[in-house]
Amino acid sequence: MEKLRIGCHLSTSGGYAQMGNDAVSINANTFAFFTRNPRGGAAKEIEAEDVDKFIAIAKANDIKNLVAHAPYTLNPCSSTDSTREYAKEMMLDDMKRMEYTPGNYYNFHPGSHTGQGLEIGIQEIVELLDEVLPTAKNTTVLLETMAGKGSEVGGRFEELAEIIRRVKNNSNLGVCMDTCHIWDAGYDLHDLDKVFHEFDDVVGLERLKAIHINDSKNPIGAHKDRHEKIGQGYIGLDILSNVINHEATRGIPFILETPNELDGYKQEIELLRNKYKG
Ligand code: FE
Ligand code: FE
Ligand code: ZN
Repeated sequence: MEKLRIGCHLSTSGGYAQMGNDAVSINANTFAFFTRNPRGGAAKEIEAEDVDKFIAIAKANDIKNLVAHAPYTLNPCSSTDSTREYAKEMMLDDMKRMEYTPGNYYNFHPGSHTGQGLEIGIQEIVELLDEVLPTAKNTTVLLETMAGKGSEVGGRFEELAEIIRRVKNNSNLGVCMDTCHIWDAGYDLHDLDKVFHEFDDVVGLERLKAIHINDSKNPIGAHKDRHEKIGQGYIGLDILSNVINHEATRGIPFILETPNELDGYKQEIELLRNKYKG
């Protein structure tokens, strides 16, 4: 029986080794973290010694498939040139930082086209990826499925598929599915077979590399993007248990993102591990 790969968002304030120790303390065997302040800006210098310690902790405790998160304020398809340029600079720098911990994932929000329209938005995201992906030597970049709030790109699987199709070299490009986001976007998770079948038809299941496992504060199709703790929202524990047990998600990392204390995350991890049938 394969162990469920699950973890949560961890604070980077104590460095990499601290994140490794935090993960161990809550029985997580993967985790997510922000590559830099989520509001953007300069990132803390990475210390090689800290990374070495982390790599040893990760190896000893089977911690892998980390899902680093780009700052959510980056907008790769803004109508403002300087905003797009900034997103590109930050992502290029993040790719260098990801090389310290090879073999992991880096996910980002495709962005909001801010009134330019979907077509221009998609083209700008593709142009950014064409510059960023060749620098990602040992990292797989993941587009996140979005709730379709405002002018957000990525609320439909077709939009992500079109980005992937147009990118020149898409071999290290995948998708991170956020359960709260797709629910809010209108995908009915009561019929998981149908959702994953549709994802397979449109994007291809081989591109599905990670799942953000969140409940939602809103009913299906609300286009709101307000996360809720597992079992306390409209999606509910039964559906989320079905997600971790579905054959389409076997072996991929699940990340709890709804803000919580470490102890709260520990309980959520235990809850889902108990629901996992292997
Ligand atoms: Fe996200
Ligand atoms: Fe997410
Ligand atoms: Zn969200």
